[in-house]
Amino acid sequence: MVDTHQWCQNRNVTGRPRPSIAALPAYRPGRSAAAAEADHGVIDAVKLASNEAPFSPLPSVAEAISAGIGQVNLYPDHGAAALRSELAAHLNVASNQVTVGAGSAGILQQILLAYVAPGDAVAMCWPSFEAYPIFARLVEAEEIRVPLHDETFDLPALAAAITHQTKVAFVTNPNNPTGTVVATAEIEMLLDAVPDTCIVVLDEAYAEFVDDPRVTDSTPLLADHPNLVITRTFSKAHGLAGLRVGYAYGSPEVIEMIDRTLAPFAVNDLAQRSARASLAAVDEMRSRVANVVVERDRVTETLRAAGWTTPNPQGNFVWLPVGALAADLGVALEQRGVVARAFP
Ligand SMILES: *Cc1c(COP(=O)(O)O)cnc(C)c1O
Repeated sequence: MVDTHQWCQNRNVTGRPRPSIAALPAYRPGRSAAAAEADHGVIDAVKLASNEAPFSPLPSVAEAISAGIGQVNLYPDHGAAALRSELAAHLNVASNQVTVGAGSAGILQQILLAYVAPGDAVAMCWPSFEAYPIFARLVEAEEIRVPLHDETFDLPALAAAITHQTKVAFVTNPNNPTGTVVATAEIEMLLDAVPDTCIVVLDEAYAEFVDDPRVTDSTPLLADHPNLVITRTFSKAHGLAGLRVGYAYGSPEVIEMIDRTLAPFAVNDLAQRSARASLAAVDEMRSRVANVVVERDRVTETLRAAGWTTPNPQGNFVWLPVGALAADLGVALEQRGVVARAFP
């Protein structure tokens, strides 16, 4: 018999965390404006490090939040039925093809929980969204990282890297942090090459900001590819990052599996109300997005005119490929009141 008492004393540990968790690096959120102000003695720092919307909530969203405040003593609707059916109508799919979660990051984690067992593989191009490797480690998956090509997802190489053991592959369109896109036709070729035993997650967190004509609505791809699941969020274009609500849509079988892993009442009532109000105000959302796109392109042109190189940005952010200078540039920007996200 194992002498657990002895074991604990010898190791001087509290509990025995799973080795994969004990070794897990924490998710690194963007630095706050307040942290930069304190570190560099600047005022009115602007935080650009988390790709947040710069606008205050739409009036109808603020009203929806006020209307819900009196009911925060009650649990929300676990299944978010009203939001789901409104999303389904908006996306032109059936209600059982849509689900909502605590941000699309919450849904990404749910997808891995639903599909990936220890030792299975999760494939992605890299660099990409920093949460993917963390979620992969949470489920003790093997990570397959395929390098970007020209700072863009290399879908033929990603398809070639997928094995029978690969349960999930991520395609991030536009990619975070490089802002680049792949054409919808390329995604279709990837789907044709990948077996249905591998779930392809198309992470469209920034879809609303894309103006590259090679990218079209990906919804029709669902017809022939039940292993495709598309994730989107209210955090970026809708400006509701603080409320934590995102959604996924795909085949009913996949959506049902994702739903099984939703923590009880994970999407709170104010988030559900706000998301519904924001969906009802989609024209206002689009005009805000159009403003961001104009500003994104202005910043890009200004940087290029000053001699910087940047791939064509398609999200709500601009990527500067400066390699080993990233950390120093991050500090220099903070000293001037701009909080960027450095990838050293
Ligand atoms: C911001 C982001 C998300 C998740 O955002 P949520 O706030 O969790 O909805 C997902 N994927 C990418 C690529 C992102 O940049």
